[in-house]
Amino acid sequence: MSRPTKAIIDLQALRHNFELAQSLAPHSSTIPMVKANAYGHGAVEVARALAPIAPAFGVASIEEAIDLRDNGITQPILLLEGIFSSDEVSLAAQNNFWLMVENQPQVEAIINATLARKIKVWLGMDTGMHRLGFQPNEIQAAYDALSNSHNVSDDIVITSHFACADDLDSQATSEQITNFDLHLPKTKNTLSTSLANSAAILAWPQAHRDWQRPGFMLYGSSPFVQPQENADQLQAVMSFESAVISLRNISAGESVGYTANWTAQRDSTIATVTVGYGDGYPRSAPNGTPILINGVRCPLVGRVSMDMITVDVTDLPQVAIGDKTVLWGPELPVNEIASACGTIGYELLTRMPARVPRVYS
Ligand SMILES: *Cc1c(COP(=O)(O)O)cnc(C)c1O
Repeated sequence: MSRPTKAIIDLQALRHNFELAQSLAPHSSTIPMVKANAYGHGAVEVARALAPIAPAFGVASIEEAIDLRDNGITQPILLLEGIFSSDEVSLAAQNNFWLMVENQPQVEAIINATLARKIKVWLGMDTGMHRLGFQPNEIQAAYDALSNSHNVSDDIVITSHFACADDLDSQATSEQITNFDLHLPKTKNTLSTSLANSAAILAWPQAHRDWQRPGFMLYGSSPFVQPQENADQLQAVMSFESAVISLRNISAGESVGYTANWTAQRDSTIATVTVGYGDGYPRSAPNGTPILINGVRCPLVGRVSMDMITVDVTDLPQVAIGDKTVLWGPELPVNEIASACGTIGYELLTRMPARVPRVYS
């Protein structure tokens, strides 16, 4: 027997979401973003499940990329922030990792390296997010320096990232696209380009280019604030589950949990579930946050503890120790829990700790 707290990962739903991304932009190649342990879903297992259909993968660091290589992933792996020190260039070349290039020291490290084989480069343009990348008027010089280097293969990708693609009412995305197209470097080589994250794949067809980079949508949740019809077709990949481990009746006027921050207004039945902030369930979840017990929404009451939460099950007709509890999943969107806690689904998925076993189905 073991603690019933688990993240059940539906790899069929993952493949469905990948295929949705691909079908929305049939002329783009789709590179799954599996950084941060595949947004908490297990990078190796996610990459293995998508390996037969994905041309490459994206991660945030060379350590994440090496972990995939060590576990049998043979595709190219794009390092989304490029290198952090010049010694990473030859390691990247040896392993067929692709490098984002976002600043002049990265250009110089690549040009000055001694490499056994050429490296594929993605050159980042800052079209308005102002976090990474060259300014539009610096792109031509950076491109020329890289394309003249023996270390760099011809097929440089020009890329940028959106700040507001999740907001369907924002003008910023169209402005970034215009800025991007205006400043593409002039060359006799054929340029390929990449713009779209999940939100742009789903809702901004003008951003569909040679390569697209879905992350969050692969895991089955909408990146949008507003409803969006393509996002409605996504299937949640993770079901975060636990079980009731204790039940008690309390009288009106009695309180529950640390700091006694919830007091029963009526005689109540309280179920204790073995999941807490030590499992990635947010401590900021307020009283009333929905918890599914036996498929019925019940309100969280009292503070989230490290290993447990307490739930008001007074209105459940039947409840027993061992009953299945769902914290988020296909029937309870992680985005809904996140918004109750003042954050986004990305954060809740990504920070799920190693102590929660991932079970693949
Ligand atoms: C993480 C990341 C993505 C994926 O973004 P989602 O919103 O999760 O789809 C795409 N591009 C870059 C450069 C990223 O760092």
